[in-house]
Amino acid sequence: MKYNVAIDGPSGAGKSVIALKIAQRFNLTHIDSGAMYRVIALKAVLNNIAFNDEDKLVDLIHNTKIRFSRDKRVFMDEDDVTLKIRQEQISLGASDISKLKEVRRLLVLAQQEMAQAKNCIMEGRDIGTVVLPDAEVKIFLTASVDVRSKRRYFDLLAKGLNADLEQIKKDLILRDHQDSTRIESPLKKAHDAIELDTSHLSIEEVIEAISLIINEKVRKDECHD
Ligand code: C5P
Repeated sequence: MKYNVAIDGPSGAGKSVIALKIAQRFNLTHIDSGAMYRVIALKAVLNNIAFNDEDKLVDLIHNTKIRFSRDKRVFMDEDDVTLKIRQEQISLGASDISKLKEVRRLLVLAQQEMAQAKNCIMEGRDIGTVVLPDAEVKIFLTASVDVRSKRRYFDLLAKGLNADLEQIKKDLILRDHQDSTRIESPLKKAHDAIELDTSHLSIEEVIEAISLIINEKVRKDECHD
């Protein structure tokens, strides 16, 4: 059976690491939709384009090739920007540009195209609600602000990037607010998504929980075929 998995939730809920491991376990293509907003935010900075200049950003999207390699690297045109897009300035920039209607429309179209052949696991904020409303499995991951800040902090340190826990927490609260109150596709749990609070769960426990959900779904649908 072919199926798509949508994983949504706020920053630092563990979407990326979980999506990556589930992709490996179930042989799915992993698509990090947030990385696409980040690439455009990075290119905007490099081209001195303001994060609210919708026309120029749209132009930029039309002239940018975003590519994910098999070994999980992110390319902006020919440049490997895997690490550069993780800087805090780019996190906030991605959140800023993702408020813009036309920016979202174009990136959502690109995401839908990537998932057309199915067997994808896509993570983001609006995957279950807007990008793949028909996804066979929908998960909404959450965790407390403190837990999420610490995770991001250690994540950045592990990548050899600078990190300041208090600043990360402040930025996270700001991004949560922006992402969930914006008019265009705010961060929201789809009505048919299963919510998992990962605050007190290990990565392995979350993976087991999601694996059960996928197996259940796939088995049920195969019985109906
Ligand atoms: O997931 P990540 O933290 O990398 O996403 C960066 C930003 O991109 C988010 O804060 C959010 O504003 C935006 N985003 C979005 N819709 C998505 C994925 C990310 O608006 N599907």
